[in-house]
Amino acid sequence: MAGEPQADCLFCKIVAGEVPATVVRETETTVAFRDINPQAPTHVLVIPKVHYPDAATLAEAEPGIAADILREAAEVAAMDKVDTSGFRIVFNTGTGAGQTVFHTHAHVLGGRGLEWPPG
Ligand code: 5GP
Repeated sequence: MAGEPQADCLFCKIVAGEVPATVVRETETTVAFRDINPQAPTHVLVIPKVHYPDAATLAEAEPGIAADILREAAEVAAMDKVDTSGFRIVFNTGTGAGQTVFHTHAHVLGGRGLEWPPG
């Protein structure tokens, strides 16, 4: 069923506590944890507890939880004190955009200069 945990999903396993992660924040609907391969001093992934493969499908099915992710992304930036220098929220959506884990996640990146356009 839509939103249900998927047995083969790495991030569902992190939500369930079956795979360890450095969790920095948790709400009723979201979990935020440090990326295993950080690309910036702050690199945190904010994910919904429900399983949707990408940001677009989550926003369509659960717009309130999509908004929760954005709110939590800002909280993570404030927690790591990167909000004054600026931070970036990225949802890679689809393999062509570099998505490798198909459970919605926002990358929160900050703590260094971030160039535009991204690679
Ligand atoms: P994507 O490429 O799908 O946008 O991002 C997936 C992210 O998940 C990557 O930045 C990758 O480093 C991170 N990642 C993959 N496996 C794990 C893991 O087991 N634990 C954590 N904390 N991050 C992971």
